[in-house]
Amino acid sequence: MSESEEESKPKKKRAKFRFKCQRCDQCCLTRGPIPITLWDLEMWARNQVLSNFLPYLEVYTKPDGGVDLIIKPLTESEDKEKNIQENPEEAFKETPIEELLDKKCPLYSKDQEQCLVYENRPLSCRTYPLEYDGKNFSIVDLDCPGIGEEGMTKEELKEMRDTAKTMNYELTRIRIGLPVLNQIISRKVMMDLMRQNMQAMSQMSDEDKAKLNDILGKGQEQPPS
Ligand code: SF4
Ligand code: SF4
Repeated sequence: MSESEEESKPKKKRAKFRFKCQRCDQCCLTRGPIPITLWDLEMWARNQVLSNFLPYLEVYTKPDGGVDLIIKPLTESEDKEKNIQENPEEAFKETPIEELLDKKCPLYSKDQEQCLVYENRPLSCRTYPLEYDGKNFSIVDLDCPGIGEEGMTKEELKEMRDTAKTMNYELTRIRIGLPVLNQIISRKVMMDLMRQNMQAMSQMSDEDKAKLNDILGKGQEQPPS
């Protein structure tokens, strides 16, 4: 096709993104794991609330071997209690991420019908339901009642697009750094545990040490050949 033909071709019109959050909280109730970035960790550290988030954070190894830092949803306690009553070994089992994809965010209060950390909500919540993959924007939740609604100013929509771009950049940044960070943390946790074990052992009486060795020895007995 010649240049002039290319120029005369009607240009595809991109659908205009219209969005106004209805504050219906549907996304918080069904959000599943929320990706966390260095931007979030830095903001929480700056606002001195990092420790409040730590119990909810988990490093998730994806099927492709990559790792993400996430806020992991809690399983509904009633379901879990029922399962544990029927199968006591369930108490020690981790719930696979795949089963948590549409679960409630642990930082949403159903009683108060609100996000408990709104001022410090992660970057991913600030850009939801818009995502940017480095080339294109996409809407990740077509059921979001805010899609197609008027009411946001041009500046607010631009800010949302910029936030989606920042999210994309920050995800890349943490995905590069997280495997190294994870190894450092795991090594530190192991070292701390070993130090605690050695301290605890040094405080035990010889009699208790002998008993413990006896128990551990029994646990490692070889099966009869
Ligand atoms: S982003 Fe969508 S689903 Fe979430 S509160 Fe706003 S309107 Fe509701
Ligand atoms: S952190 Fe807040 S805004 Fe984000 S999903 Fe959880 S409850 Fe909703």
